[in-house]
Amino acid sequence: MSSLSSVVQGLDGITSRLADLADNPDIPYERLVISLSAVTTIWELYVSSRQMKCYSIPLPPPELQHHLKKETYDKAQAYGKDKLTFNVRQTMFNFVLGVVVIKTRLLPHAWDWTASFMDLVGLDQSRVITHSLLWITATSLVSVIPNLFWTYHFTFVIEEKHGFNKTTKKLWITDQIKTFAIAIVLGLPFLAGFLKVIEMAGKNFVPWLMLFMISVQLILQIIYPIFIQPLFNKLTPLPEGDVRQRVEKLANKLQFPLKHLYVIDGSKRSSHSNAYFYGLPWSKQIVLYDTLLDQNTPPEVEAVLAHELGHWKFWHPARLLLIAQSNLLWTLGLFAVFIHNKSLFASFGFDPRLAVGSPVGGPQPILIGFTLYQLLFEPLDTFVKFFINSKTRKYEYQADQFAMGLGHAKDLGAALIKLHIENLSSPHSDKLFSKYHHSHPTLPERLRAMNEYKGGDWLSKNQSSKVEEIKAKEKKEL
Ligand SMILES: [Zn+2]
Repeated sequence: MSSLSSVVQGLDGITSRLADLADNPDIPYERLVISLSAVTTIWELYVSSRQMKCYSIPLPPPELQHHLKKETYDKAQAYGKDKLTFNVRQTMFNFVLGVVVIKTRLLPHAWDWTASFMDLVGLDQSRVITHSLLWITATSLVSVIPNLFWTYHFTFVIEEKHGFNKTTKKLWITDQIKTFAIAIVLGLPFLAGFLKVIEMAGKNFVPWLMLFMISVQLILQIIYPIFIQPLFNKLTPLPEGDVRQRVEKLANKLQFPLKHLYVIDGSKRSSHSNAYFYGLPWSKQIVLYDTLLDQNTPPEVEAVLAHELGHWKFWHPARLLLIAQSNLLWTLGLFAVFIHNKSLFASFGFDPRLAVGSPVGGPQPILIGFTLYQLLFEPLDTFVKFFINSKTRKYEYQADQFAMGLGHAKDLGAALIKLHIENLSSPHSDKLFSKYHHSHPTLPERLRAMNEYKGGDWLSKNQSSKVEEIKAKEKKEL
């Protein structure tokens, strides 16, 4: 016990020393945030410009040459180019918006405005958590409103143009209202709890906050399929038949605790297709998109499921959860360094006394500090994104190999190619763009990996010479 308390004391000492160093009026926090945001934006534009070049390549990559008709290839190239152009515009817009918000001092102004509003409706200003919730709701409108226009444009112009959009305007509007209502009903109480835990735990808030966050995630896992998903989609049990038999047999063989097998009406909104599983360790649900069932033969659906169950067999979701929790832990730990940083508050135009909670005599508005802290460390997400993508990409190869090992190589290859064609995924990908943006390897990358994997018997005849080559090489190596 004494060694644990000395560790805590040690961490405490480090935190307060770092906090002293970071609370320095000479550090130009505001300029730092704008510069880092500019660097991130330039980086994103650079990566996009590399990918943009891929859309002028006239022919598909060799792995896809036999599968893509000229017409499909051209369509996929046009779709990719439109989507990327859209992303580039959005990235630039967000950068400008961020600078405008900081430079006009909108954040501190909104703090004062919401204080006046509280006066007006007779709320006591010392209720810092209520004030914080009003403030965050008001300031998030600055990004939520333009975002509505972007999403609208993406759905009804870009997806529509390429034939993917199945949403009606009425459905789209109801979706937005529901999303907004969920953000209010779940988001605000969560945030209030988050702030309350820090307020109550005081200096050593990190372990308590971790405990709180993990409990919230667990609760969400349970309530999402019961209360939230039905607001948007309908899940119906997969009817008896070939596909059901195959999936049940596969789950049985792998001892996957399959409780329910559903079809989701994904086609209501879009013709993109997918499959996934979720649930507690002892009781799992598998969900198949109706589009997946329409576009694939039963053996191909089974192969896609074998891939998904490969993720389960290798503990991929649990591993990703662990990575997410460690990310959360160090983020919160570092926040402890900045929570009372007066220079950070002052640099963004806030009264520095707010950093210790003095002007109105109430507790400190922790949310302001957390928002500024997030602004400062947002660029680090770039690295986190690289790291997590490198993990998930590795997991995809592993799951593919798992399905191949179960004898689904040929059907998996066929299903992946179909999926790629139906989704008009980009045939060419720039390496850096792909590593940065894609959680999944591209189809040519996956086909190449499957090709190299020794169990590969899925290849079409015209490519089988490659298998011979690989086999010969293996013999030599042995
Ligand atoms: Zn996968």
